[in-house]
Amino acid sequence: MTTCQLCGQDSIEPKELYAKDYLSNEVFSLTQCPHCQCMMTRLPSAEQKHDYYGKDYYNSSAGKFTFVLEKIFRLNHAHNAKYFHTHFPSDRILEIGCGRGYLLRELKRLGSTVHCLESADAADWILDNQEVQVATLSDQQDQLWPFPDSFFQLTIFWHVLEHLPNPTTSLQQAYRCLESGGTLCVSVPNISSLQAKMNLTTWFHLDVPRHLIHFSQEGLIALLEKQGFEIIKITAGDRMQNLFGWLQSIANLLTPGHINSFYRFIQGGQPLRGAHLPSLVFQLLACWMWIPLGCLGFLVEEIFHSYGTVTVYATKKNVATFQEEQEK
Ligand SMILES: [Zn+2]
Repeated sequence: MTTCQLCGQDSIEPKELYAKDYLSNEVFSLTQCPHCQCMMTRLPSAEQKHDYYGKDYYNSSAGKFTFVLEKIFRLNHAHNAKYFHTHFPSDRILEIGCGRGYLLRELKRLGSTVHCLESADAADWILDNQEVQVATLSDQQDQLWPFPDSFFQLTIFWHVLEHLPNPTTSLQQAYRCLESGGTLCVSVPNISSLQAKMNLTTWFHLDVPRHLIHFSQEGLIALLEKQGFEIIKITAGDRMQNLFGWLQSIANLLTPGHINSFYRFIQGGQPLRGAHLPSLVFQLLACWMWIPLGCLGFLVEEIFHSYGTVTVYATKKNVATFQEEQEK
């Protein structure tokens, strides 16, 4: 029996659900909070813990994917940047975990001052990005972010909150560093989506143990509201990720022992070299089946608004108003 670190509900019964990491082949158990429906990955003790973000995950400094896909990925970020620029024009923007900095570079080009906060353990080529101001936070340090109060107008967690060991603390820091009325954007995989429910343990976006928290849409909204944010908009997340989630998750049903082989194929490089060859060949040969089925799933998701990834936009409530509400 444990307490839910997100909604604070006591007495969570561990759910008998296990999922295998497609990179390390280690099996992890998941617990689900019956109240907010979010799930948590149970990690082994610190001594047993390995580095789950190796070269198989990041590939190389040239990118996570092959050249053409990396280009598409970059165009997708340029599209996202334009959306932010049009709907939430901001002078100072913070992104938590910016990776290769594609989104921030575009926002900088559009005229904003951009900052990134990264783990001090991130790869050198992430921390040495000359185009983006990268601040670091050590896992062992105090979790106080190195920015003044009310400094940013827009703070973005783009597929990052699910990787953080303590999302509540991170959101409290985001609240502190955001100006009153500023915008918070959180995009995460949605565990309450149709594609997740199809077969959770082989779902592409489950990605244990790198994803520590698996948010339901309702659970994320409740968490943001509890930390002083007012929800202003909920959208379909990243449609490229939604579609790929369907395609790869259906392909995974064919080879449940070795998942994400097709994903490794399109990454190329080190991830491809580590792929299980028979599973990869089987997934490739069966593409005539999972491509149309995946597209169909994507359309169904669009019709029922149950998206594989979801983006929530929220605004920081006035501090005095929030404190008053807390005291009631
Ligand atoms: Zn909960």
